[in-house]
Amino acid sequence: MIKKKKIGVLGGGQLGMFLCIAAKRIGKEITVYSESSEFSAEKFAKNYFIGKYLDFSKMDKFLNEVDLVTIETENIPLDTLHYINKKKPLFPSLFAIEKAQHRDKEKEFLNVVVGLRTANYRLINSYSDLLEAFNDFEKKTIIKSCEQGYDGKNQYTINSQNINEFRNFNFNDFIAEEIVEFKKEISVIVYRDIYGNVMNYPPVENNHKDKILSETIFPAKINKKSHEKAICYAKRIICSLNMVGLLAVEMFLLKNNDIIINELAPRPHNSGHWTLDCCDLNQFDNLILTICGYKVQQPKINTPRCKMINIIGENYNKINNFKDYKFYDYYKKKLLPKRKMGHLIKKFE
Ligand code: AMP
Repeated sequence: MIKKKKIGVLGGGQLGMFLCIAAKRIGKEITVYSESSEFSAEKFAKNYFIGKYLDFSKMDKFLNEVDLVTIETENIPLDTLHYINKKKPLFPSLFAIEKAQHRDKEKEFLNVVVGLRTANYRLINSYSDLLEAFNDFEKKTIIKSCEQGYDGKNQYTINSQNINEFRNFNFNDFIAEEIVEFKKEISVIVYRDIYGNVMNYPPVENNHKDKILSETIFPAKINKKSHEKAICYAKRIICSLNMVGLLAVEMFLLKNNDIIINELAPRPHNSGHWTLDCCDLNQFDNLILTICGYKVQQPKINTPRCKMINIIGENYNKINNFKDYKFYDYYKKKLLPKRKMGHLIKKFE
């Protein structure tokens, strides 16, 4: 097979930026398609196009320049994905992106097709649906939009005090989900090549603040059985999706050591940034290798422990307080309260 060289990436945020850096190192070229005119990958891409995802004449120009297309976000209009899919190989598949971009489709796939558990949930269309779910979930309820809901956006924790405020809420395409009392949040990143080989990074532990990832700890402090179970589940999901590429699986480890799946991201993931410093090949390298037709291997890890801290909003002005950490800047032009501005990493012996 002829190995592909010119990669198109939909989205040019920090994930796109790290993809550009990884691609260059192994002699590949990245062209970015960004909806925003200010984007982290600008300095690192071989070329870029700025336009709406639904601007198909702009999209055509982008597609003419690339051999294949991948994503740094699953929030791409389905019409655009169908359009691209007819013209160039798309990784991961349209099927995988479609599941991951819509919470109801994703959870149904996990429960019904893969046979793994998620939190109890249901689609809701009205205030009376919310009241019913709130009762059935014994008041432990969170509502989430099915699409465009990353970093806590369009998510509301419901309680007896605030439920009244949702009387006139627009419930179009929302789910109500039972709040899970988890012991830990963990994630596993797996990747699969065109030959069907599936490899994994070890499970890491994730701490969130205000529903945004604040830090990742490698390795997750969980017992051996949970460790193996988490990897096994992530591998089962990537195989069920029949996906070529990289998949992050976010999970809740429950008090009884059961593991339920929270969310899928069929692309590089914030909880995999530690791999930039601590592995022979990081998550971005392995995504590129899989989609360009190379056979992949297990990553070699060069530290017993490490910690990644996200720099969010105004914490950008406090990075000098973290003396022993290495800082990665995402070159964002504007500092916004919930915006990921960079991350820090420290290895421990
Ligand atoms: P999500 O966008 O679904 O990943 O949610 C963001 C964060 O909110 C998660 O990482 C959890 O910390 C928290 N969260 C989301 N859903 C639940 C749930 N059903 N039970 C408990 N915490 C949740």
